[in-house]
Amino acid sequence: MVSRVIPVEPFDLVLFGATGDLARRKILPGLFHRFAVGQMPGSARIIGSARSEMSAEAFRADVARAIREVAPDTPEREETLAAFLERLDYVAIDVGGEAGWSDLTRCLRNDVVRAFYLSVAPSLFAGIARQLDAHGLATRDSRIVVEKPFGRNLDTARDLNAGLRASFAEHQIYRIDHYLGKETVQNLMALRFANSLFEPLWNATHIDHVQITVAESLGIEGREAYYDRAGAMRDMVQNHLMQLLCLTAMEPPAKFTPNSVRDEKVKVIEALDPVPPEDIARGQYAAKAGGDGYLDHVGNPDSRTESFVAMKVHVANWRWAGTPFYLRTGKRLRARESEIAVFFRDPPHTIFPGTGPLKGNVLAIRLQPDEGIRLQTTIKDPGPGGFRLAGVSLDMSFADALGEEAQAPDAYERLLMDVIRGDQTLFMRGDEVEAAWAWIDPIIARFDDSRDRPAPYDQGSSGPEEALMLMHRDHRRWRQIGG
Ligand code: NAP
Repeated sequence: MVSRVIPVEPFDLVLFGATGDLARRKILPGLFHRFAVGQMPGSARIIGSARSEMSAEAFRADVARAIREVAPDTPEREETLAAFLERLDYVAIDVGGEAGWSDLTRCLRNDVVRAFYLSVAPSLFAGIARQLDAHGLATRDSRIVVEKPFGRNLDTARDLNAGLRASFAEHQIYRIDHYLGKETVQNLMALRFANSLFEPLWNATHIDHVQITVAESLGIEGREAYYDRAGAMRDMVQNHLMQLLCLTAMEPPAKFTPNSVRDEKVKVIEALDPVPPEDIARGQYAAKAGGDGYLDHVGNPDSRTESFVAMKVHVANWRWAGTPFYLRTGKRLRARESEIAVFFRDPPHTIFPGTGPLKGNVLAIRLQPDEGIRLQTTIKDPGPGGFRLAGVSLDMSFADALGEEAQAPDAYERLLMDVIRGDQTLFMRGDEVEAAWAWIDPIIARFDDSRDRPAPYDQGSSGPEEALMLMHRDHRRWRQIGG
């Protein structure tokens, strides 16, 4: 299969926070890669901005260092890098002040797509939007891209939305959840809506339950202060897990347009039942012999922030009544693994004597590592020795099935190009983010009110005993992490 690269229109992208961690690790290398494969036109320009005073030359040298750290060292790399760096400029701006904005204005062209990427703390979003507006830079077609976290509760999310909407219309605002840029997440929509096989079975009549797992083997290193204020609910559930839940549970949109897709996702969030306390398990990774536990990392022996959460969720609508969705995410678990596993109901009757009850099929959609789809089926155990049954996986690893094509671009690359194309399908709409917070807020408020501490769990395990019990109680089992 030949990879098709369709160049985007010429653009000016202003990257606020251009010297920060995210810009250096993801955004600039992502743009470099799109440039290297020919998707970014030669006339496109990237204008980095941050408070630090430096020349455009010094910025280019810093970007070159950042790209060399992550891009493979191929014979063509340096030549491509030199051409890419020519597309870069730098303007120093402290976004809280007045200096620098007119320099930025002079840099920008009027006849190309214009995008502002805010890779800075969310507290700066509204101020930047205001300044762009005040300096006449927020033209009708320009786009503004903002990073997570989008608020820490419904009120702060509403404030952020109001701050951005004072200067930009909703169709200009791109709220990033990089999970939506992952190839398999988009494939979930293709799997459901471009095949006739699954959709007739995609409901409570045929699906027993769904498990959504986002497990990480790393802890909270380098993000201790932020994480201890957020916890797994805010950091992972409110955005990434919620998005995976929506795409799994939503009704087929009438069209594949940004608002049709996002309308359906909002309906899922609005259909979520409140979660009672007995349907949630929280955990914190425990110290090993030499310390190194969550509490050591945050330097606060009294912290009640969860580094793990598992919950049973009901989507209270016609399609899903009676089919629970189990969500789980945590740090320092057995492996780094994200998947959506759809458990179909067991066959109602077996015609095969002596085989015991038959097992239902499981469709596992793996997001990381090794993106792919696996369908667990039952077949006859090969051989002449009677009629026995065995479980077999139909395994489609994208790397095996698609070869070079499976070298999926990093999620950021896809999303950056969608911004230039003006396609908001894979970005969160303002009402979607607010609906997610409205559902999450009472759960977090209950954590805050409770004196209970999250249950400790061993590092390298699957989480606390309480999470296992949540499943056992329903006579079900979690899929093994790293299995
Ligand atoms: P960071 O490393 O702290 O970088 C922040 C950037 O903002 C720097 O370039 C800094 O440069 C600039 N800056 C700070 N104050 C400024 C001001 N008053 N005016 C202009 N520029 C200012 O942060 P980060 O990790 O890259 O994160 C950026 C955003 O992405 C945050 O919203 C974060 O939550 C989000 N995010 C990050 C990651 C990640 O992996 N890092 C992942 C998901 C989301 P100067 O100091 O020179 O001004």
